[in-house]
Amino acid sequence: SMASPALLMRVVASAYSVAEKAATIVRNVMSAGDLGIVEKAGPNDLQTKADRLVQMSICASLARKFPKVTIIGEEELPTDDVTEDLIEGGHCEEILKKPCPAQYTGIKEEELVIWVDPLDGTKEYTEGLLDHVTVLIGIAYGGKAIAGVINQPYYNYEAGPNAVLGRTIWGVLGMGAFGFQLTEAPAGKHIVVTTRSHSSALVNDCITALNPDHVIRVGGAGNKIIQLIEGKASAYVFASPGCKKWDTCAPEAILHAVGGKITDIHGNSFQYNKEVKHMNSAGVLATLRNYDYYASRIPNTVKESLVP
Ligand code: AMP
Ligand code: MG
Ligand code: MG
Repeated sequence: SMASPALLMRVVASAYSVAEKAATIVRNVMSAGDLGIVEKAGPNDLQTKADRLVQMSICASLARKFPKVTIIGEEELPTDDVTEDLIEGGHCEEILKKPCPAQYTGIKEEELVIWVDPLDGTKEYTEGLLDHVTVLIGIAYGGKAIAGVINQPYYNYEAGPNAVLGRTIWGVLGMGAFGFQLTEAPAGKHIVVTTRSHSSALVNDCITALNPDHVIRVGGAGNKIIQLIEGKASAYVFASPGCKKWDTCAPEAILHAVGGKITDIHGNSFQYNKEVKHMNSAGVLATLRNYDYYASRIPNTVKESLVP
């Protein structure tokens, strides 16, 4: 008989379905019209009813199936009173059928850390920039991001009534990434993607120093990694603290699974063990190709301003 699928593949297959349920919640909260906006640290750090419900849905659903896995979500919420309608028990069969990369077949539940951003791009969600929004479920082992799911609930929302709304991108290191068409950015052009709602003088000075042909300002860390893997941008540059481990874990796994690279602005890789500091204090630098071109052009003055 067939051996039962490896834990990692079961977690990814479940995370896929959990992220699809999350996307339904994100769309339902918006169409119901009451976003229930709460300010966290300030007016550029928001939480909506969708952030709250999705966090409860993802964390409770995964915890029920994988009780020994460490799950760290962005929102600080009670986990005891999650209603049954928020629980997703399903999984993606297609993912379960794929063989687990050999180096991950022996992983045990207590060795996994799942980083959850229930809604990345909340500011943009509240402003109606709906395709900036993603749901991020990143899976880490040995401090490394090894698998991830990115759901984009409003993918195609401006493509007309016949277009399928939303999509789920997933990937595993050593296996690849799926649910999108991998595309290189235009050769010889330097297109930088960065924040639209968390800019600063340092963020802008760093981009200016790179002398890009074009700058794209959009919300969300997940959304910016999608820009890289679909060839819309050649580098994601964010010379500022503010991004957290739940913003980068799933995007990192997917970007690395297709041969890209993400680090802080100094070139240090991110760590995702459960004890790690949440803040990516020294910013973000990510590319699908030509990482060294951008890394070598980050000014020392910028680096000196960002302590890891
Ligand atoms: P952005 O590119 O501005 O959409 O930021 C990517 C992610 O990092 C989002 O989840 C933001 O909420 C978060 N982030 C970045 N900068 C800040 C900040 N200054 N305060 C709070 N969150 C931030
Ligand atoms: Mg986020
Ligand atoms: Mg969030």
